[in-house]
Amino acid sequence: MLGIIEPEDRLAGDTPYWNPKTETLGRERLEALQLAKLRRQCEWAAARSPWYQRKFAEAGFEPASLQTISDLRRIPMLTRDDWMSSQEARPPYGEIPAIGGDGAIRVHTTSGTTGRGPLRALDSRKDWAWIAEMWCYALWGCGVRPVDTAYIAFGYGSFIGFWGLHYAMEKMGVLNVPGGAQPTEARVRQILDFEATVVASTPTYALRLAQEAEIQGLDLRGSAVQRLILSGEPAGSIPQTKALIEEQWGAKAFDTAGMTEIGTIMVFECWHQPGGTHIIEDNMIEEVIDPATLEPTAYGERGERVVTSFGRGAIPLIRYRTGDLVCKVPASRCECGRGFDIYEGGILGRVDDMKLVRGTNVYPRAIEAIVREFPEVDEFQTVITHEGIRDEITLRVEMKPDFPMDKWDALSTDLHRRLAQAHEGLNFRINYAGTGELPRFELKAKRTVDLRDSPVGVGG
Ligand SMILES: [Zn+2]
Repeated sequence: MLGIIEPEDRLAGDTPYWNPKTETLGRERLEALQLAKLRRQCEWAAARSPWYQRKFAEAGFEPASLQTISDLRRIPMLTRDDWMSSQEARPPYGEIPAIGGDGAIRVHTTSGTTGRGPLRALDSRKDWAWIAEMWCYALWGCGVRPVDTAYIAFGYGSFIGFWGLHYAMEKMGVLNVPGGAQPTEARVRQILDFEATVVASTPTYALRLAQEAEIQGLDLRGSAVQRLILSGEPAGSIPQTKALIEEQWGAKAFDTAGMTEIGTIMVFECWHQPGGTHIIEDNMIEEVIDPATLEPTAYGERGERVVTSFGRGAIPLIRYRTGDLVCKVPASRCECGRGFDIYEGGILGRVDDMKLVRGTNVYPRAIEAIVREFPEVDEFQTVITHEGIRDEITLRVEMKPDFPMDKWDALSTDLHRRLAQAHEGLNFRINYAGTGELPRFELKAKRTVDLRDSPVGVGG
């Protein structure tokens, strides 16, 4: 990686932390801070949100009874189903919000293609300040500074995505170039024309931009871009995908993750890149539970994320079951000096992403990691079907336009062997897909298609 300026060298007397006071707190003081904020958030919810009032009463829970951080476990959990049901019963916003539309300044929705339609999330002016503040932890932590120019490859629509990153850049004094709705080709040219030093996009779209630059004969590696801020998909934390992005851009890529239900990010990768993302623990509590028993898991064990955020007033999010699969490890794993614990490998996927094919567990993330080691592959898709008496799994592969067809047999054989090795010998069919045949994604890539009658969703 050439020409990347370490944050330490960029400004004399600089600090690597956005919020040095709280980012370096020890566990005990951090938990005391969390407890105080948790109590305040529960009091707020109990006073203003009809849904929480009812839930707290049913569970016999009172905010004043929170004496230690583990008392948190007495608070009932909130699910996406609860949110949707409440929205349907009392449209348009349901009874979870602590304020009505008149106290809010904007509403965003999830991309919501699944089932019951999108979630609607309200935010006040104060919420928006907090949303931007969370992004600042990530941006500052990976070395973005006011001297930068940021290109935001994002549609600025109903999906909350990079809206908060945009405001964080403004707050830090970074020059923003909003990508908005325009073709990929135009976006690549703007990145070069404005001499952007930072680019924000989904991991999939970072690859798509690089692909387009290559088609146009434009040199991204020689451009001013030094950092990519990735968000929106777990793919950003797959080492092979990240390495490919870094190689194609000649820049460092930093993983973050957020969700509409919080309005912002809850984890970020610091400059040291310890193989995972720090949890912004002075502003949220992230529990990891066994999705079947709901008991907390230990450090190093996989489980489901349950998040409590302290910053969003309009929609207090208390013990929200996310369905995200994670593995928490202690802060000491990283050398940066932060006291914030780490999700090893970032967000590992969805708890129900795992597919059971002929008795073998198949994770989309593991397939992607293997496919990304073949740089000749342009796009791919995994299709699971039920044929006759058994399940079949097929990897459809689209090659780069200049791929010589006489190399296909060798490549597909190699791919077949590697996938089988990683999946207890499971036989993947490898199918060639024509140029442009497979779907392309800007947001939330969905490369696994399960066509069986009843997809198997298994926890853990
Ligand atoms: Zn760190």
